[in-house]
Amino acid sequence: ATATRALFMLFGATGDLAKRKLYPSIFNLYKKGYVDNDHFALIGTGRREWSDEKFREVILDSVSANADSEEQAKVFASHFYYMSHDVTNPEHYDALSDYANKLDQQYDIEGNRIFYISMAPNFFGTVAKNLKAHNCLSDNGGFNRLIIEKPFGRDYDTAEELNNALAKSFNENQVYRIDHYLGKEMVQNIIALRFGNPLIEGIWNNKYIDNIQVTLAEKLGVEERAGYYDGSGALRDMVQNHTMQMLTILAMEDPISFKDVDIRREKIRALRSMHVYTEDEARQNFVRGQYGANGDQRDYRHEDNVPNDSITETYVAGKVLFENKRWKNVPFYIRTGKMLTDKFTRIDVVFKKPLVDIFASAKGTESELNNNVLTLFVDPVNKIILRLNGKQAGQGMEMQPLDLTHTQSDEEKAATPEPYERLIHDAILGNATNFASWDEVSRAWEFADVIRHVWDTDKPDFPNYTPGSMGPDAADELLARDGRAWVFNS
Ligand code: NAD
Repeated sequence: ATATRALFMLFGATGDLAKRKLYPSIFNLYKKGYVDNDHFALIGTGRREWSDEKFREVILDSVSANADSEEQAKVFASHFYYMSHDVTNPEHYDALSDYANKLDQQYDIEGNRIFYISMAPNFFGTVAKNLKAHNCLSDNGGFNRLIIEKPFGRDYDTAEELNNALAKSFNENQVYRIDHYLGKEMVQNIIALRFGNPLIEGIWNNKYIDNIQVTLAEKLGVEERAGYYDGSGALRDMVQNHTMQMLTILAMEDPISFKDVDIRREKIRALRSMHVYTEDEARQNFVRGQYGANGDQRDYRHEDNVPNDSITETYVAGKVLFENKRWKNVPFYIRTGKMLTDKFTRIDVVFKKPLVDIFASAKGTESELNNNVLTLFVDPVNKIILRLNGKQAGQGMEMQPLDLTHTQSDEEKAATPEPYERLIHDAILGNATNFASWDEVSRAWEFADVIRHVWDTDKPDFPNYTPGSMGPDAADELLARDGRAWVFNS
């Protein structure tokens, strides 16, 4: 492993995400030797008045279960420093800058800095502005990189405003916008499968593919995030970001190399060929839902912190079209929602049937051949199934589905980093492949904004689906209209 010297400056160090995901991830990178154990420090900031000791207790609490020894966790935690800081108070940044310089010297970090903003998005711009204005960025040849959490705006205009604010302090190539779906093993495997296998890439087009289906299903409702969620909805929370990113990787052309700039170029090209709907088309091609009650389960409008006339969607299904040579006439169907049958993410690539079914024509019957389907299971297990048509054992020539299955082994599972660990490592290495660029984010907002506008204007007929189902009937009708059906439907 190449160890990188780095000073982290984390805004939101007392927060939930930091505790649950960021500290364990940085600890794993430390254990694996990806952060230089002698040359790293982290300054955590938050509103609370914590001491370094208190902060280190929290760090120990969050990483101990994963430590080889208590000593190891303690040495790791000793690199953590806390500053109580109000991000809206410019004066505080001078102290932060002095502290960063001091720790940089103490640990001989050579000016490499990673700023991580794990706070509510309305603070992103303020923090970025003050970091630059108060000389918190190093200027001695080390790198300065900014990692920011989602959401990146709530529509095109707010995203652009945020981006302009960041751009005053950081260049685009210094900004790492987290989309943790890009850190998932099977999402990255799409690139490996497509561009490492002529067998797959050769048929990855409208000649052989009938349609592609992407499902991000959640079993739970809004839980304690209701307040946030009600102001957002599934379109902003799941479609504009995660779903769009997966679609883009499925649809993009071959990059000329596996470098971030080359991959981004192709992702942007794919997004530019994506058809942005008119409002009428959006009404035709997108479906929204909100869950009702079922037994003990309250309907969405009666969840805590949700207004009882809320028109926020907890479900979205839609059809996305890429207007280029590869994908002409191949619909990409997407769906995501809360309170569905189970928690899972999967991609179903549905291939066309043979033009002639020689088995049926010999018998004078209707074809019973199924579409070949390549299913990539992204969550909760990493699995690939290629469903073919094969022969039933016996003397006749009866057909039956034949599944070629690859399931991730326990060793592979153990070797698979959590998305946050992988993404922080990428940022340390300066590899932006698995982060969302502004061109991608902005295009996705252009697409989502039309749908959002229609939905903010038209009155919905909510609630319209039952908890524990796969969503409203209209989502099935969306495909039935095209003579198709969801591959997963139970
Ligand atoms: P949180 O509310 O638990 O923590 C917020 C942090 O910001 C705290 O450390 C708090 O002290 C600090 N803070 C708030 N106002 C401040 C101020 N004026 N000055 C200084 N510090 C201030 O939030 P979280 O759940 O950790 O989420 C952080 C970010 O990560 C958000 O952008 C969220 O959308 C995103 N995110 C969170 C999760 C998750 O699972 N929690 C998942 C994905 C994305």
